[in-house]
Amino acid sequence: MAEERQFAPGPAEGAGPGPQSPDGAPYKRFSPHFQRFKRKVCRFCTKQISEISWKEIDKLTRFTTERGKIMPRRLSGNCAKHQRMLAAEIKIARLLALMPFVRE
Ligand SMILES: [Zn+2]
Repeated sequence: MAEERQFAPGPAEGAGPGPQSPDGAPYKRFSPHFQRFKRKVCRFCTKQISEISWKEIDKLTRFTTERGKIMPRRLSGNCAKHQRMLAAEIKIARLLALMPFVRE
């Protein structure tokens, strides 16, 4: 004499079309949580910046996470060349105590 319990179906999560890329295809790999990282063009290439300096803390800080980690290329959208330069400059800035190794 087991009484069957009936659960009402909850609202479907993540239903509906996601954000559209410039090509018109929906993003698949990025959850809405990461939407602000979806830029895929290297910012240094578009502005034709050939050198990044450890002195430009404001620019470098933009490519770190809240915790102070260097943002991976898949999130920042930088090309390999500029990502290498950026990482090297951030490390210099850290050693000079201009940027934190880790932010609490
Ligand atoms: Zn680049």
